[in-house]
Amino acid sequence: KAGALPPSQLVELQLRGVSRAYGSYTALHPLDLTIRGGEFVALLGPSGCGKTTALNCLAGLLPLTAGEIVLDGRRVDTVPPEKRGFGMVFQNYALFPHLTVRGNVAFGLKMRGVAKPEIARRVDEVLRLVRLGEQANRHPGQLSGGQQQRVAIARAIVMEPPLVLMDEPLSNLDAALRLEMRSEIRRIHQEFGLTTVYVTHDQEEALSLADRLVVLEAGRVSQIGTPSELYEHPADPHVAAFMGYRNLLALDVVSARGTAAVARRGGLRVAGTVVGGARAAEGQEVTVAIRPEDVRVVGPGDQPVAEVVADVVEYHGRVLHVEAVTREGDRIHLRAHGQVRPGDALAVAVDADRALLFPKESAGSGG
Ligand code: ATP
Repeated sequence: KAGALPPSQLVELQLRGVSRAYGSYTALHPLDLTIRGGEFVALLGPSGCGKTTALNCLAGLLPLTAGEIVLDGRRVDTVPPEKRGFGMVFQNYALFPHLTVRGNVAFGLKMRGVAKPEIARRVDEVLRLVRLGEQANRHPGQLSGGQQQRVAIARAIVMEPPLVLMDEPLSNLDAALRLEMRSEIRRIHQEFGLTTVYVTHDQEEALSLADRLVVLEAGRVSQIGTPSELYEHPADPHVAAFMGYRNLLALDVVSARGTAAVARRGGLRVAGTVVGGARAAEGQEVTVAIRPEDVRVVGPGDQPVAEVVADVVEYHGRVLHVEAVTREGDRIHLRAHGQVRPGDALAVAVDADRALLFPKESAGSGG
């Protein structure tokens, strides 16, 4: 693009054993992570897992209890937040209400003493990029939530920061706007290539935006990987749950050969694949993880996994989302294409390569 801002100069950001405690409570256990220039990294996990703590440590808003943050060979964890020069976009945009959109975006550059013509050029360019050229002279009160959020993003990126930190930036927007802003953020990131760390509890948001995901659980890293690595090879049931494996069932191994095993409990009998090259022993307890879209009503030649009774049936266009109950009271989420009504008895099937078996000792704290 002609006149595009220079890409992020950051080459590598290292977190080395970064941890944070509040009193005797460790909110973030030592975190090691190397972020490459231009990368978009999402910190993903449930409420209270330590995402915001990690981000605030990066921002300098929270001192570290231990560890180092190194930006291109320079330690920055003792540098105050304003001197780090990172861009920040949070869920409450904190725009100046008395300034116009242009004034809000220009503010940081003015503070930095950048020459007026240069400010005008950069602000215009960024406003065009976030598609707010038309609204430049309005005040925040005259903008929609999505437009305000774009002002907040513009204000961060106009500073050409080495790193942009975003904490649930879309959580105050309604569903439709959230989707729209998600692709805006993706587009802006592609155009600018700014190194970004993005906090969210929404796995779809993380999967669709990030080059790499860091999944946190109770202050510890569960897994770090690309969206497809996590989606295809979740390391534990907790990550699996985040990646859409809604069915997590506690079963016992009845037979095992290599990484192929069969597990059952009561009327449930599932053939699956043991995760991580581990071996399962007969009698061992496993957590079986299966996606709803991989559970189907039996067809010809199918080996049923369970007999269930449909309980909740939701209409989603061509497929029905069905929540069914086994004899033992386990809930199974599945997809059906034909007619299913609450109370219908169904036999369901799962392909063996679609059921992941996690031996209990690697089940993590959540399992
Ligand atoms: P959320 O998505 O709800 O914002 P989070 O993953 O960002 O959650 P953090 O805000 O990082 O979680 O909090 C991690 C843990 O540390 C939580 O258990 C929280 O209760 C605790 N915590 C956070 N701030 C403090 C504080 N100032 N004093 C004591 N405990 C805190």
